[in-house]
Amino acid sequence: MKWKGRKGSENIEDRRGMGGKTLVGGGIGGIIILLIVTLLGGDPGALLNDMTDTGSDTAAPYEETEQEKELAEFVSVVLADTEEVWTEVFKEKGLVYEEPTLVLYTDSVQSACGTAGSSVGPFYCPGDHKLYIDLSFYDELQRKFQAPGDFAMAYVIAHEVGHHVQTLLGTTEKVMPLRQKLSQTEFNKYQVRFELQADYYAGVWAYHARGMDLLEEGDLEEALNAASAVGDDTIQKKAQGYVVPESFTHGTSEQRKSWFNKGFENGTIEGGDTFKNME
Ligand SMILES: [Zn+2]
Repeated sequence: MKWKGRKGSENIEDRRGMGGKTLVGGGIGGIIILLIVTLLGGDPGALLNDMTDTGSDTAAPYEETEQEKELAEFVSVVLADTEEVWTEVFKEKGLVYEEPTLVLYTDSVQSACGTAGSSVGPFYCPGDHKLYIDLSFYDELQRKFQAPGDFAMAYVIAHEVGHHVQTLLGTTEKVMPLRQKLSQTEFNKYQVRFELQADYYAGVWAYHARGMDLLEEGDLEEALNAASAVGDDTIQKKAQGYVVPESFTHGTSEQRKSWFNKGFENGTIEGGDTFKNME
């Protein structure tokens, strides 16, 4: 992706080195905890809604390595590109795009959805309109998921921004309450469609990034490879040797690739009705 030397977003909140200290006596009681929406299936137990003190208040400025510095710049430029694209796409529909904030953190972080550790992977909290990313996920993407390349990471950011788009469009509000009404297996089906829509929106963003001449050769393949690497079947096969389709929450590798690609071909919100034909 062509990103060096371009302008970054102003909506970056750098909380690296601060840990996710939860307020003592934290006002969780009575507040509805909104669930985070992630890139990966993962262990929801990694979301800690307790009083764990995981960091110090008096953090010195975070000392980043050269690689981290470059990565933080990259993330900021990609976020700015999503702002530009979604502002335009919303405008064409007569809507106003509210820009989300991207929080960089290390180890654990407190969000309006609770305190989360890095192991959940990049996530979005609908409750505060913020994306949360520990940049070490970039290494994980390369090593653990074998999805290298800058555009693989761009896909990850664009997917979480896709969850923000769903929140602004009111989809999150419709889908999340089903968790209380349906069995886990039934709700999983909705969650898969919901996640595939975020992949579709990531593709919509990539369509416009191509239109802005930001893509380089191999970028699309990097994104498709990443979308495939984070498919439920691929992750489960690797982790336990077999797949349990009823437990899928994000879709198969094939589905994730396919919906990203659809977004990349269409470039419109309309083409992303992943909930169509649900039984
Ligand atoms: Zn997601």
